[in-house]
Amino acid sequence: MRGYEDGRRRRWKGRVEHYEGVNIRGWSRRLYSGNQFDIGFFMVTVRCQNLITVSNKFKHLNDFSEAQIEVSWSRCRYGSMRPWFCCPSCNNRVAVLYFASDAFACRRCLNLAYASQSMSPVRRLRNARNIIYELVGSDALNNAPTKPKGMRRITYRRVLATSDKLRHFL
Ligand SMILES: [Zn+2]
Repeated sequence: MRGYEDGRRRRWKGRVEHYEGVNIRGWSRRLYSGNQFDIGFFMVTVRCQNLITVSNKFKHLNDFSEAQIEVSWSRCRYGSMRPWFCCPSCNNRVAVLYFASDAFACRRCLNLAYASQSMSPVRRLRNARNIIYELVGSDALNNAPTKPKGMRRITYRRVLATSDKLRHFL
């Protein structure tokens, strides 16, 4: 018998988990001129608040040497600032850049599929359920929880409706 995966025509498509992803979330305090920090394969040097250099710590393993990446900031509630990468390829603001052999680019530029797009239907549902758990607490599928602080009412209603549907599957 052929399983779900086997029944499909196999076609290679890049997936985000095959690439080295770099997430700028949580970096806001590190992004001051002259700072340098280590992120796995790469070393980040902050030129100024709007420009960083990401260099390869393992030049002997890979020809890539370094990339200049622009950083832009958005103001969020309560006056704090949130950093974003400017994708070196399309210049869009993104939180995550991926490293693909010799350059950094955003998911869209690399035409990557998120893992969910290649998941089986059941796994996709389970994944959705886990996201709901995270959003409104693990009780979501049994009892209607109270709306988490800060979540918009419309989002909350949508989450509840989805959790109702999922109850039939899981
Ligand atoms: Zn891009």
